[in-house]
Amino acid sequence: MAKFLEYQGKEHFKKAGIPVPEGIVASTPEEVVEAARTIGKPVVVKAQVLAGGRGKAGGVKLAATPEEAGKMAEQILGMTIKGLVVKQVLVEEQLDIAQEFYAGLIINSAQDVRGPVLMFSPEGGVDIESVSEDKIATRNVDVIKGLMIHDTLDMAVSMGINGPVLRPLADVILKLYNAFRKNDCRALEINPLVLTKDGKVLAADCRMEVDDQALFRHPEFGIKIGREFLKEPTDFELMGWSFEANDFRGTSYLAEMAPPEELRKGGYVGYHGIGGGAAMLGMDALNKVGLKVADYADTSGNPTASKVYRAVKLIMSQPGIEGYFLSGFMMANQEQWHHAHGIVKALREELPKRPGFPVVLLLCGNKEKQSQEILKEGLAEFGDRVEIYDREHVYDAKFIGGRVKALVEEYRKEKAAA
Ligand code: GDP
Ligand code: MN
Repeated sequence: MAKFLEYQGKEHFKKAGIPVPEGIVASTPEEVVEAARTIGKPVVVKAQVLAGGRGKAGGVKLAATPEEAGKMAEQILGMTIKGLVVKQVLVEEQLDIAQEFYAGLIINSAQDVRGPVLMFSPEGGVDIESVSEDKIATRNVDVIKGLMIHDTLDMAVSMGINGPVLRPLADVILKLYNAFRKNDCRALEINPLVLTKDGKVLAADCRMEVDDQALFRHPEFGIKIGREFLKEPTDFELMGWSFEANDFRGTSYLAEMAPPEELRKGGYVGYHGIGGGAAMLGMDALNKVGLKVADYADTSGNPTASKVYRAVKLIMSQPGIEGYFLSGFMMANQEQWHHAHGIVKALREELPKRPGFPVVLLLCGNKEKQSQEILKEGLAEFGDRVEIYDREHVYDAKFIGGRVKALVEEYRKEKAAA
């Protein structure tokens, strides 16, 4: 799912008429001081990463003056929250909080719902999972009928809300639903939705996730990879995604595991798994013999030969790799001859450029016999540093890992001697 940072989500809130605190994004302490001056009030400095629980992790800090805001920014910028490095902060006017609520929508894909579920709770500011069920109002929304203001008023009233806060609260919840629909979200959440001491209702936080399948309707989002991706994609990853973006036949997932300058130091193998579990087994097998994966690739779910071909070409394009390993540690029910054809075509183009390059292929499953024939026939002329295995070794990670290691060592010796 395509995720948005808090400040990006809040831009969509503004467009939907949901009040948000005045805020400015910054990426250096100097910019933060400047932003706090512009806001001209005490501020809160908030880490912008694609993870919740920033408050608990020390990524949300209050500052009374611009100088103090700069100091807070020095602490927050560069810190790691749930494995993600903070590169930007949101500087916002501080709110004088009277009460924190929760309002959120998710898609419930269960058979009997298959649609948006709206949730509201008078106990916001904490993980919604930790709020007791009787304190959360929920409503399955019929997307054809939509939602009316009396629906959200009812929800708020059912949770004991009354007085002047009722109407603005119901109004925000309704607008939240409209924003959820307009942006094709899978999740859209305000936690906390704040009532200030002077009676205003504002969204103090935003979690927004958009349905990957709907991204084509939203070029304005500028999302480069329509799948959960918590960092800026590399060139390798953008290229990998281009095989997938407009071709839904099977999957090809490609991620860079080490940057090119690191690969050139040696010890890396171009890595190609078929299916998640098989891919993990293969990575373990390599790690145990002291080799590392240059990339993570996973082609599965009946991909076409052309998709597999592109994946192999990209894997082979990585500088410094000392081998290519197809880790098919599974009896796939997909027809494996598509894999065989794609691999043969790519390797027949690539191997003549690097004589003696180690290749280990483990491929088994449906149409195995034919697939093995395609591989053996297609790669016969490349000599004995291409090893091809079938179901006889399907779960034999230790043996296969050992073969990759042995061939890589031979190849290194040969290169050192040349
Ligand atoms: P999260 O921890 O990643 O969900 O980040 P939030 O944006 O929800 O911030 C965490 C907590 O910081 C909130 O629940 C609030 O209690 C507090 N907080 C955020 N903004 C303000 C603010 O402007 N004023 C005050 N007093 N507290 C704030
Ligand atoms: Mn929050």
